[in-house]
Amino acid sequence: MRKFNVRKKSEERRKFLKAVLAISALAPGLLTKSVTSEAAAAPPQTPLPDLPEGEGQLLRMQRELQRALKKPVAERRWVMVIDGRKCVGCNACRVACVAENALPPGVTYRTVPEAQIGDYPKVARFFMPTQCMQCDNPPCQEAANAISPGSISKRPDGIVAINYQKFRGRKAFQAAAKACPYKALYYDDGRFFTEGTPALQPYDKGASYDYGSMWRRVKGQEGPPIDGGRKCHFCLHRLNASMLPACVSTCVGRAAFFGDLNDPESLVVELLAKYKDKAVRIRENRGTQPRVYYIVDDPALTAAYHT
Ligand code: SF4
Ligand code: SF4
Repeated sequence: MRKFNVRKKSEERRKFLKAVLAISALAPGLLTKSVTSEAAAAPPQTPLPDLPEGEGQLLRMQRELQRALKKPVAERRWVMVIDGRKCVGCNACRVACVAENALPPGVTYRTVPEAQIGDYPKVARFFMPTQCMQCDNPPCQEAANAISPGSISKRPDGIVAINYQKFRGRKAFQAAAKACPYKALYYDDGRFFTEGTPALQPYDKGASYDYGSMWRRVKGQEGPPIDGGRKCHFCLHRLNASMLPACVSTCVGRAAFFGDLNDPESLVVELLAKYKDKAVRIRENRGTQPRVYYIVDDPALTAAYHT
């Protein structure tokens, strides 16, 4: 009986993974289109898709995204808001991120660490989903560019972008990773999940679309993105295709929000105003000016934990 359950579970898991991979395989076609509209930095050439009626939070963010995409890129100010009180630590955002960006072993754009604050008896544990904070004053940029100029740049919309052709090798990566207070950078060392098996499986051969270009990883390849640093880019390729970041649209607890801080009508602006006494940006004391905000029960304790 026990054996049967195990088999049933692995069967279900196989079906689930198949569905996830099918979704990620669908995305690229939608995404390549976006690069052209981004390059124009003006109203997109193709009409944005009609959204269904209704006004759930996801649909609202989707509408706001479309609104922002009609503005020049320099007038968009992307931010993420994570409501730590609602995160259930399920890691669905992390899985969605891995599938969306076809991430290899050892590279994770999003993690969901568990944090503990306070001392007994006033102690609390909570989840703190984290990724590259798209800092307005990114220390990684100076560190990387000192070794390899042009490796990391700050886009007008606030996303901190890696140039995969220039951000190459361990030396530049280690300098940038050491400078980043959020441990947001990972090195792509060319491994594959299914290496050592008779054949690499489809997942390992999938392309990613970081920064609007198509990236394929092949065993033995020496070019990018292999042998360089990688990190979250707020799913820039999805944004340009009028899609929310994968972690936001997947969030099981509806704890992750995304939008344009320059849009006074946006949900992110509303949340940050409503919870202004509960909103924190972690490790702000490092002067990084991160673009990810957290809504937490006790901002003082959380800030103290993350110094
Ligand atoms: S979180 Fe780290 S990698 Fe991301 S922009 Fe800030 S310093 Fe750079
Ligand atoms: S999907 Fe949402 S609820 Fe689950 S771990 Fe990620 S942020 Fe938290």
